Amino acid sequence: MKIVVLKFGGTSVGSIEKIKKVAEIISNYKKKYNVIVVSSAMSGVTNDLIKKSQKISQNFSDAEYDVLVSSGEQVSCSLIAGRLIHKGFKSRSWLAWQIPILTEGAYKNSRINQLYKNKIIKYLKEGGIPIITGFQGVNDLERITTIGRGGSDASAIVLAKFFRAHKCIIYTDVEGVFTTDPNKLKKAKKIKMISYEEMLEMASLGAKVMQPVSIQDARLNRIDIEVKSSFVNKPGTLITKRTNLINNKIITGITSTHNDAKVSLVGVKDKPGVAASIFKPLSKKSINVDMVVQNISANGKETDLTFTIKSEDLNKTKKIIKENKNINFRRLLFEKGVSKISIIGVGMITTPGVTFRMFQALANKKINIQVISTSEIKISVLVDKKNTKKALEALHKEFKLDK
Ligand code: ADP
Ligand code: ASP
Ligand code: MG
Repeated sequence: MKIVVLKFGGTSVGSIEKIKKVAEIISNYKKKYNVIVVSSAMSGVTNDLIKKSQKISQNFSDAEYDVLVSSGEQVSCSLIAGRLIHKGFKSRSWLAWQIPILTEGAYKNSRINQLYKNKIIKYLKEGGIPIITGFQGVNDLERITTIGRGGSDASAIVLAKFFRAHKCIIYTDVEGVFTTDPNKLKKAKKIKMISYEEMLEMASLGAKVMQPVSIQDARLNRIDIEVKSSFVNKPGTLITKRTNLINNKIITGITSTHNDAKVSLVGVKDKPGVAASIFKPLSKKSINVDMVVQNISANGKETDLTFTIKSEDLNKTKKIIKENKNINFRRLLFEKGVSKISIIGVGMITTPGVTFRMFQALANKKINIQVISTSEIKISVLVDKKNTKKALEALHKEFKLDK
């Protein structure tokens, strides 16, 4: 019998009523398939646990953080299994170490690299429904690890890969992947099909609906993903390979971020090695630098360097720059109130004039562009955060995404 992997996100298991609904969905699939379930923690639980760790220590141990935050998934999985048992099914919860699902890499941000199938296969053959904790694994020191925020998506894809699942369905609180966050723009439209490449860009650029690592894994292993709502039974979005798509849109989606910060170093020496001396200590401390611009130097001696980072890294970044004797500048400026707006679409490869249209649409709304970065299938601009909604609206209209 074919296997389907069903993943339920935090809001889908956010209350007892919702968990009962999830058990209904699972039992319907069980009529036709062997079902493997992956669940996130009930919504809000992971955030609460993180807050608790911060109250204990601002330097809370990474290894203990993983033990702590992984506990949310244990609760939701047990409740789902309990409800299925109540309904007369054979079901049980599985923590990652019980399978085991092995990970490598640092705590808080590990990657799944191995999964032992035997126990689950045996259980499926006995007619059981395994409910597996997302987001967690165990490392070679036999310690619990987690795989990054939103990581249950990646757990689901890995399970789909190892069990050669017929389908992998991501159940969430919206009807699928939309042209932009439907909670930010009412006019957003559900996308029927989207390529891995576009979904990966959208996820990396702020569309929270899928976690980026999960899309990378799906793409590498050619796993089709369906994203759909656990609240209403409607067709969702298929994430698949580019050749499966018939799409005549230039732009597929638009994203925005809300937690970027801009750092500018005014009056840095214009000579080789200066940028490296600034970014090396940042990368050593695992601070991700995103957009970078360096002005041409007017006098040949000094220039200005601007880059963006995640807001939560701002204090660390300031400290590193101020304390590093090798970094010389006249003034350090930083700003939290910025948002990165990106348009994404494989259609832009073959269509000239997309950049112009984006800039003109923003200019018409008097939105100033602070930094620009591009790749083959996306253009990102940094704007004042207060313009986020206006920019999304203008671009959504310009590229006819509401049609
Ligand atoms: P889950 O708890 O199911 O993992 P998430 O909160 O991680 O759900 O992701 C779903 C949310 O992603 C939606 O509620 C929506 O606000 C947000 N989102 C952002 N961009 C998009 C988009 N382009 N399409 C759909 N949802 C999006
Ligand atoms: N519960 C974890 C989180 O909130 C994992 C997930 O939701 O996928 O990040
Ligand atoms: Mg999620």
